Amino acid sequence: MQVPNQHRQHFIGGAWRDPVAGRYRPAKSPGTGDTIGEVAEGERQDAALAIEAAKSGHEALSQMTRWQRADLCHRVADSIETQKDYLAYILALEQGKPLKSEAYGEIEAAATGFREAAELFKFMNGDFIPAETPGKRVISFRVPRGIYAVVTPWNFPINIPVEYLAPCLAAGNAVVWAPAPTTSLCASALMQCIADAGVPDGAVNLVHGPGAVVGDELVVNPDTHGIGFTGSPVTGAKIAQRGAGKPMLLELGGNGPVIVLDDADIERAARAAADGAFINAGQVCAATGRVLCTRTTYDELAQRITAAAQELVLGDPLQPATTVGPLNNHAVIEKVEAHVADGLARGGTLLAGGCRKPELGSDLYYAPTVMADLGEDADLNRAETFGPVAPIIVCRDEEEILRVANAAGHGLAAGVFSRDLAKAFRFAERVGAGLVNINGPSHYWELHIPFGGAPGKQSGLGRLGGRHTLHAVTEIKTISYDLG
Ligand code: NAD
Repeated sequence: MQVPNQHRQHFIGGAWRDPVAGRYRPAKSPGTGDTIGEVAEGERQDAALAIEAAKSGHEALSQMTRWQRADLCHRVADSIETQKDYLAYILALEQGKPLKSEAYGEIEAAATGFREAAELFKFMNGDFIPAETPGKRVISFRVPRGIYAVVTPWNFPINIPVEYLAPCLAAGNAVVWAPAPTTSLCASALMQCIADAGVPDGAVNLVHGPGAVVGDELVVNPDTHGIGFTGSPVTGAKIAQRGAGKPMLLELGGNGPVIVLDDADIERAARAAADGAFINAGQVCAATGRVLCTRTTYDELAQRITAAAQELVLGDPLQPATTVGPLNNHAVIEKVEAHVADGLARGGTLLAGGCRKPELGSDLYYAPTVMADLGEDADLNRAETFGPVAPIIVCRDEEEILRVANAAGHGLAAGVFSRDLAKAFRFAERVGAGLVNINGPSHYWELHIPFGGAPGKQSGLGRLGGRHTLHAVTEIKTISYDLG
């Protein structure tokens, strides 16, 4: 597929609109460095206009029954499915993930997200609450909060927004959405699908621009009533302060340990660790951030993960044979390089990769990397790398594995491998992560499964997924009636 260079405006009040200041910035492809379009560079005033437009959007959604809003969500899903080739193409072109092995899957999940939210909210019943007072009858039921501020990252630029947009629409919230600037074309393509489905004017609005400007306006503006944010812990902390008092879902970073206990099926554990480290070039919040094992399993594990890394095809995301694309932007590749350099400085050994591959088309290609001989003080163990690196940390025994796993500041997702299910289950109960997958990769998740950070960690607040998001974006309304 070839598409002409794009010119993308904001979508406000049911129409594509130029930014108030008239400024645009170039959109780039990470695979080639080429300019592939231009995108509106919004300011606070653009975000404020979108919030104003969302008021009538919310009013229109409120007049619709749950069944009508569910139909609307299904029409959005139909529209995504009709446009899937274009969406997958733009996702590979602008985000950098491999078209064949990953981009189509993200588009399918986006359509499913709208269908699941539609059906789940239809059947989310309220309560009839017995009252002590004679003659009183009390019911409670879920109502939308009003206007949602949604701010999303670039690693899954279609699917992560859908995790908020679909439940918001199904439940009757209008949305003003600020996507990550480096995937603005993806956001515009999804917005077009939503518009084509016939959403009421103002029900979903898209404002491009720097997060610290347009995203911040959405967060602080008194006319937004809830916040859905996925991104880094640093930005999440700012949003928690700036939006204090508003209900918020914060889905933040991870540094998922893949924990290999001594009796594990090593082949299976190695495959899961490699999948989790290299999928989406490691730019996954639930990625394999580190592999923790003892000397007993290390040799075979390291050999198998290294072999898996060497089998991958790094290259142009649009080519069908490619299994790992470029990183999305310069900030992320610089962090990967810094973490690998820190590992080497601390005595780490490279078993695979460890360098950029600019000959592949741009300076954003980074070879799938495996590093061993690391201590727990390495940045690769302590912090989120968000790139294609599998660091292996050897611990004295399984108790030390648990201590190292839990010492990190993040606590989003983990994998635990053992042939002894009871042992693995007890271990999983003690791992400080919101989601622990036994004998599966740290990034296993389905749209309806609760997902979020563990208590006391910097991985977020609240739970995404199916009915959990629907609960988060609604409030309970109670009505009592006196029969006299
Ligand atoms: P980021 O925090 O830099 O940016 C995320 C979004 O916030 C972007 O749209 C950005 O424009 C916006 N933003 C930036 N500053 C802002 C501000 N002051 N106010 C409001 N909005 C602002 O994160 P990123 O680098 O785009 O994404 C990577 C991070 O996201 C990683 O830490 C990753 O783990 C996390 N993530 C978490 C999940 C999850 O479900 N927990 C999923 C995907 C990514």
